[in-house]
Amino acid sequence: MLGLDPLYILLIAIVVFLASYLLVSYLRESSTQKEEKGKLLTMKKCLSCNYVLSRPYEKEDYVGRKEGKCPRCSGDMMITAIYLEPPPQPQVTAPS
Ligand SMILES: [Zn+2]
Repeated sequence: MLGLDPLYILLIAIVVFLASYLLVSYLRESSTQKEEKGKLLTMKKCLSCNYVLSRPYEKEDYVGRKEGKCPRCSGDMMITAIYLEPPPQPQVTAPS
């Protein structure tokens, strides 16, 4: 009578696992939001006229990927860099 149903134990294990998984992912998400200091940007360059354009980074972006047309000469554009934008500098007020 004291023995627990193995299925019941398994169910508890799954629930505990799911709960801790959710908690960990929630904590990770909130900590990355706090750590975020700048925006991730994608820089792309025209292969014909070297016109440079940057825009917010998107998941599928990678260096070397050809994307879109140059607004200046309608040549092919290629992603040349993915970088973190430095946070905006706080305005230094001159001492009086
Ligand atoms: Zn161009």
